[in-house]
Amino acid sequence: MKAWILSKNGIDNLNLKEVEKPQVKAGQVLVKVKAVGLNPVDSMVIDLIPVNSEKIPGAEFAGEIEEVGEGVKELKKGDRVSIYNRYFDSTCSYCKSGNEMLCDNGYIFSIGSNGGLAEYIVIDGRNAFKLPDSVNFELAASLPVAALTSYNALERAKVQKNEFVVVIGASGNTGVFALQFAKMLGAKTIAISSKNWVKDFGADYVIGYENALEEVRKITNSHMADVVIESIGEKFWDLGYSLLGKNGRMVAFGTETGSNAKIDISQLYSKQLSILGSTSGSVKQFSEVVNKSKDLKIKTWKKFNFQETKEAFKENSSKEKDGRIIIEL
Ligand SMILES: [Zn+2]
Repeated sequence: MKAWILSKNGIDNLNLKEVEKPQVKAGQVLVKVKAVGLNPVDSMVIDLIPVNSEKIPGAEFAGEIEEVGEGVKELKKGDRVSIYNRYFDSTCSYCKSGNEMLCDNGYIFSIGSNGGLAEYIVIDGRNAFKLPDSVNFELAASLPVAALTSYNALERAKVQKNEFVVVIGASGNTGVFALQFAKMLGAKTIAISSKNWVKDFGADYVIGYENALEEVRKITNSHMADVVIESIGEKFWDLGYSLLGKNGRMVAFGTETGSNAKIDISQLYSKQLSILGSTSGSVKQFSEVVNKSKDLKIKTWKKFNFQETKEAFKENSSKEKDGRIIIEL
């Protein structure tokens, strides 16, 4: 089979090669990859995380079951699936409490093992989730990272009906899902974004970065945000923090613009604020995300075929990027 192999850090060391098709063992399935969604984690794998041995990147993907190993009961050849993209041991205290994303021995596919930038991948059957018929592979390849991360973030913040949820970077991979899930929870959503199209993804209000504080004050009648979803890191941390009202919760899960932040402790206690981190999500949450996926949508900016993967990565850091980049197989 063909696979993109990373031999050393740097996009120039990513090459399309012919490699052996992986063999299915008991409990596993062979997935024919149909779509891969690009994420910041892929750029980290290519550029930053040391490459100890050759590996296949691609953290977020979906496909079709090609072969089923002994003992896998719920899946059959031809099933269309999205992939919970983490290994977990099922035995540590975090797994036992339903927090597989925190597993003591866990890792993300493409970091601790091969990812989805290949014609086929073998995974445990428990990681493959059948898609609703109406969900295409483009969307399915946006569920494991983009959708699940937002879903967990909103659950961490315990978003309630009619609360004001502010999404910073609302047109980003996770932002569009944060808006959609927040609407499903009955929240009132304020998108901070330069893109007006986020209204089609559940933004009740779209405001710019420059006057965000004033705008949020006006929209909420000085109540301010109950929840701020912060996926960008350092650059807008202070802004996000300043938007919180009493009992406000800020959830962070990205550091694209840096990872250092300060907090004003007096604001923290006098307004009873909560700062929360979230990472990926649990198996249960992923199964809920897949079930809800028939009511979700994404905005794709550009699609590339498998041979054009390098071009896709170059475009992924483009300033003009306006929606997702998907590689189709
Ligand atoms: Zn575990």
